[in-house]
Amino acid sequence: MTAAPSGDVAARATAGYRQRYGGEPAGRWAAPGRVNLIGEHTDYNDGFVLPFALPLRTVVAATPRTDARWTVWSELDADPVEFGPADVDEPGRVTGWAAYVAGVVWSLRAAGHAVPGARLAVASDVPVGAGLSSSAALESAVLAALVDVGGLDLPAPRWPRLAQRAENDYVGAPTGIMDQSAVIRGRSGHALFLDCRSEKIEQIPFDLDSAGLALLVIDSRAPHRHADGEYAARRRSCERAARTLGVPALRDVAVADLDAALAELPDDETRRRVRHVVTENQRVLDTVALLRAGRIRDVGPLLTASHASMRDDFEITVPEVDIAVEAAIAAGAYGARMTGGGFGGCVLALVEASAADAVAAAVAGAYAERGFAAPGAVTVVPAGGVTRVD
Ligand code: ADP
Ligand code: MG
Repeated sequence: MTAAPSGDVAARATAGYRQRYGGEPAGRWAAPGRVNLIGEHTDYNDGFVLPFALPLRTVVAATPRTDARWTVWSELDADPVEFGPADVDEPGRVTGWAAYVAGVVWSLRAAGHAVPGARLAVASDVPVGAGLSSSAALESAVLAALVDVGGLDLPAPRWPRLAQRAENDYVGAPTGIMDQSAVIRGRSGHALFLDCRSEKIEQIPFDLDSAGLALLVIDSRAPHRHADGEYAARRRSCERAARTLGVPALRDVAVADLDAALAELPDDETRRRVRHVVTENQRVLDTVALLRAGRIRDVGPLLTASHASMRDDFEITVPEVDIAVEAAIAAGAYGARMTGGGFGGCVLALVEASAADAVAAAVAGAYAERGFAAPGAVTVVPAGGVTRVD
């Protein structure tokens, strides 16, 4: 993964706090990154996703202050950023990474909460920009800190929407509810089955440890080429297809009706886009059924099928992720797929825990052969969501 500063992340947050502000923080709050096990580009089609929270965490050390101002420091930047209510209340006034923090303050204030001023220090083990949602981890840790130190009456089920608004409306990133849901509601040993239409969540047992399994997260380190424009194009294409088919969203096309739906579409590209979304939704449902039955290894082929669908039908993969998937499977992984929006980012491989190192080495070897930059690799199991550390 992207090299994280070394040492325990909570200790680094405290050390940063002491150094910047003097004294001890009132508390520390930790929020995990997340990966999506399966269900890609299904969220904006009102479909299904199955993310889980990671053991990698962002920690915020914080203390309330009596004036309504916020100072935030992150170990990723030399200088703290300070802002007040006038900056917060006008989205766009605070820019750069601190916008994620100002956005949370804005979101809480916009919902009518009396947000306390605060001093905040941030440390993180979640690699930034690798598709593991360091942004939602930062928002959620800050949100938890402000809710606690301010004694706000705001139960956790309402947090994902507030954190999402911070990112959508203050930062200006048009993301769905998945990241914040996983980071806030994630439970150790479980994946979070999220229906993006109803926003209903279900905890699905996904105990890799007990099964002797692990998920290898391979950072392809591929630069995100044209990711924003391509994302918008895929989204438009799906929305257009839904209109042509006369359904509110592609979620409403069942696999059983796929052939009939495809026959109504005007061109091959649109047909392939629709086929990805419809089959991917079904793969999420099939994965949930297998996990409920305790058949984790059998999820492997669904992961690999998801990858093939993203590569051939949705056309959002790049050679680096295709090679990582191929090499992981050749080295014994039960299945593998790119995770995240596409055009780079991370690959997930389901492996026997004892085989993780060998699979990672095989992927590194395949990259070296082709002259790609060395990939990162870390094994993960589903961890818990945002929490107070002490
Ligand atoms: P991802 O969420 O996949 O890591 P994003 O582009 O959505 O990628 O979010 C990354 C951005 O979030 C960073 O560029 C930075 O602005 C902000 N961010 C995340 N973690 C931190 C952190 N620990 N300190 C400061 N900023 C952070
Ligand atoms: Mg993000």
